[in-house]
Amino acid sequence: MKLIEIINKRCNCKVTQVIVKSPMGERIAYRDIPVDNFKEYSIYLHTGNVDLEIMYSADKELSEEAVSLLTDLIDVYVENRATWEIAENVSKSPDIYAGRATLDEMVKVTTNALVYSGLFDKAAVMFFNEKLMELRGIYMTSIPPYTEEQVKVFRNKRVPVKKSIIKQLQEYNKHPDDIERHLELEDKIFRSIDNVQLTNPLIIAPMMTGNKIYGILITYSNNKYTNTHIFTTRSTARLLNTMMMAVISNQKYEYTTSFYKEIESEMRSKQSLVTLGNYVATIAHEVKNPLISIGGFAKRLMKAVTNEDLKRMAGIIATESIRLEHLTEDILSFSRKRPPKKEKIQLTKLFSEIRPLFETRMAEHNFKLNIDIPYDAYIYADIDQIKQVIVNLIANAMNAMESDGTVTISFQEKDGKTSIMISDTGPGIPLEVMPNLFKPFFTTSNSGTGLGLPISRKILNNHNGDLTVYNSKHGAVFTVTLPAE
Ligand code: ADP
Repeated sequence: MKLIEIINKRCNCKVTQVIVKSPMGERIAYRDIPVDNFKEYSIYLHTGNVDLEIMYSADKELSEEAVSLLTDLIDVYVENRATWEIAENVSKSPDIYAGRATLDEMVKVTTNALVYSGLFDKAAVMFFNEKLMELRGIYMTSIPPYTEEQVKVFRNKRVPVKKSIIKQLQEYNKHPDDIERHLELEDKIFRSIDNVQLTNPLIIAPMMTGNKIYGILITYSNNKYTNTHIFTTRSTARLLNTMMMAVISNQKYEYTTSFYKEIESEMRSKQSLVTLGNYVATIAHEVKNPLISIGGFAKRLMKAVTNEDLKRMAGIIATESIRLEHLTEDILSFSRKRPPKKEKIQLTKLFSEIRPLFETRMAEHNFKLNIDIPYDAYIYADIDQIKQVIVNLIANAMNAMESDGTVTISFQEKDGKTSIMISDTGPGIPLEVMPNLFKPFFTTSNSGTGLGLPISRKILNNHNGDLTVYNSKHGAVFTVTLPAE
């Protein structure tokens, strides 16, 4: 038998050209074919874009053994040609190669490759939309004489899918070698979505990563239904699945890396804040005592001098030193690491101690403080620390409000958490202020230190709780959350 006869018999395609070049020479050696018999001449099958190289000796009839080896080889070639074709295309598409491509791009390359391999007239991928139980045709490649119009019809086609089909698709990959079963399944699957109205459907293969189905690969041709086509589609589907896996894990990797980077930079800024906080705390500690003396002496001066100008100046020294004293106290309490001493606190009792602290301000500005808390509401917290938080939040609310405003305190217990809400009728938190609210030293007030909210949040975090904020219709709402014991 002559080589060309074998080729034409085994390849379901016409050999169009014999050329001298091949990407597959290595594979012959790899398949352990005794190439010694076939030296001298090289023949290259060229039926699409991929070539097969076979070396043979022209002066001899091929032995039976050689015929069988070559037949095998050609079968492998034909079977995998589309897959190799795709692999070729993949290496040409830098984004896919580097794992940066999207699924869409990858699928497009695959369908193109299937058609241009010459075995199929059309190839398409339908993405599977779990929510809607439908398949959406996205990519379709077809070679003339199909019109652009026909391609378009397919591209945006929506196909309802029954649940049983998904099960069948899942079955498909469980038995990779059971061809009979596959044919049966493919037939069933196709019949159940045959309102796609495509001509000569040939093969449907699922696209999966692990157990998840992303869609189906459909290939069809005007040629007869042959095993070769089935093999090709199946190995293509496998390659496609591997590529999908690569794309998806790359996307996950990128997501994780960027997430990690974010955390890292956040940690770094937190770390530098801690270092800065330690310096500042040391300075605050050193500054506090002399400040107390300065303030005390200024007060004594105020009383001792008779000159009005000097009295006024001493007064300024006294008030300013009190302000600085508060600042140093805030700084110290921010950097102090005292663990909370938790106890059961009845909230109505706590608020009966807090309310008097605001009586003067309420009278001056006609503020109202509505405390809407049930008698049997309890929290578990360090009483001094939680008092500091609540006083701070009420003071902030009053600072933000015009005269006649109202601060409302309410309580909620839900999902193992207790919450105290402090809402005001002020202007709310401006959007640009929101991201900075809990950063140390951020303040919009001339007399503020910008430490009230960060200290409060830190205290609550030490209690395994949190401090959050949102703007309601009326003003800002701060929520203190604590675990219910
Ligand atoms: P300070 O009160 O010393 O400025 P805080 O950390 O307590 O420091 O508050 C930081 C900033 O948050 C305030 O300067 C103010 O701009 C804003 N803020 C806090 N509470 C409220 C509120 N209830 N309504 C509007 N803005 C607020």
